Amino acid sequence: MTAHSKHIAIVGAGLVGSLLAIYLRKRGYKVSLFERRADMRKNMLQAGRSINLALSNRGIRALEEVGLADAIRPVAIPMHGRMMHDVKGNLTFQAYGKEGQYINSVSRSNLNIVLMNKAEAEGATLHFNQRVTQIDTDKTTIAVTSPENHLEIHTFDLIIGADGAFSAIRQSLQATDRFDFSQAYIAHGYKELHIPAGTAGAFQLEKNALHIWPRQSYMMIALPNPDGSFTCTLFFPFDGETSFTALSSDHAIKDFFNANFPDAAKLMPSLLRDFYQNPTSSLVTMKCFPWVKNKTLLIGDAAHAIVPFYGQGMNAGFEDCRILNILLGKYHDQWETVLPEFQNLRKPDTDAIAQLALDNFIEMRDLVGDADFLLRKKIEAKLHSAYPDRWIPLYSMVTFNDNIRYSEAYSISRSQKKIMDEVMSRPGIETTWESLDLASIIQRLPNG
Ligand code: FAD
Repeated sequence: MTAHSKHIAIVGAGLVGSLLAIYLRKRGYKVSLFERRADMRKNMLQAGRSINLALSNRGIRALEEVGLADAIRPVAIPMHGRMMHDVKGNLTFQAYGKEGQYINSVSRSNLNIVLMNKAEAEGATLHFNQRVTQIDTDKTTIAVTSPENHLEIHTFDLIIGADGAFSAIRQSLQATDRFDFSQAYIAHGYKELHIPAGTAGAFQLEKNALHIWPRQSYMMIALPNPDGSFTCTLFFPFDGETSFTALSSDHAIKDFFNANFPDAAKLMPSLLRDFYQNPTSSLVTMKCFPWVKNKTLLIGDAAHAIVPFYGQGMNAGFEDCRILNILLGKYHDQWETVLPEFQNLRKPDTDAIAQLALDNFIEMRDLVGDADFLLRKKIEAKLHSAYPDRWIPLYSMVTFNDNIRYSEAYSISRSQKKIMDEVMSRPGIETTWESLDLASIIQRLPNG
């Protein structure tokens, strides 16, 4: 069967499902997308809160290959580094990478709309209010339920589950033999809050930075929106003395914010309303394997949901689409070969970014204000500047170097850490670090 005569169902018209539809249409497949929610393009007024996320090189590269990066750039806000806010409101800026390297704050709904519009323009068919409740991997059928509870069964040549962390497709696979699955919640949840634009749409905090209020056992972050506002996210324990459960009155919420985020609290006139109205959501890592069963494939969060602390979940899902497309090209659209190769190639990478995302929570909330950590970063920056291709800091490998696989970045970072632990343990390193013998440090790398 040629690409042209194959009909593929993608379940979920979120970020990854919509991008994948574009890739597959460009290869000539017939593509039908089934989305549980209503069409967000018709419901923008009700959409309410603006939620943003960080788009970086891996995601941009995947968008570039379907000709979409130029549509996103004008609505993306570059963030060149972390702006740390201490409890007194003092600011410290740490660049993410070299001059000219940055990540981008983009609106989740705008990005999704751009992707859905492009998928439609390329000829994909989008079906909204269609919840897929079950699949049959032997017959390659999906059971779709409409809001009126009509159940319809459709048959396809291939089914792709892009239905997110709580994927119904994955749940169907879980019922089959030898399917591994794990999920692990962290003790923290998150809540989105809001800093509005100032007079005439002015940004009330530095526009081109990702703001962090690191407070050791918890933190708040803020990303800019094009209208001058910021979307803040409080990552906070569910239970305990300092927790969502403990912040149960106006008084407790206000006192807590004034004491711990005083500079932000002043800019949050709707703090109480946002705190009560916006949900407290949980954070989970989900892993599973295999991602393929007969002619059904899982992709994006459905295959590998991670915590958001590296800003890589969507970027990883977009990279899935680009890699799948490369394999389809390499094997002339022979899915029997492509599917196993895809899952074997991507699984180590998504496992690596899952771990790095968990590790980065500790770095963001705990270490970014720590003197040893800052010194370590300075020494690494010096190494990188002297040996730009030999010593690339982990953050740069993950965020800016899309030719380095996540799994490679992870394993290189282990070697770097071992070397840096020894360097940092040298007596008087605080005063001698500028005269370190960088060449001898580089030689200790496995490829040194
Ligand atoms: P989703 O975005 O979850 O889309 C799944 C789609 O499937 C949805 O439209 C849903 O309605 C639909 N669906 C679900 N079930 C069914 C069904 N049964 N039938 C039909 N349709 C269905 N990533 C980054 O790269 N950078 C960031 O800065 C970042 N920040 C984040 C912050 C937070 C707080 C969180 C929670 C995540 C963050 N992420 C970030 C991760 C990112 O949101 C996800 O990785 C990304 O949304 C995954 O896309 P997806 O299309 O696989 O899944």
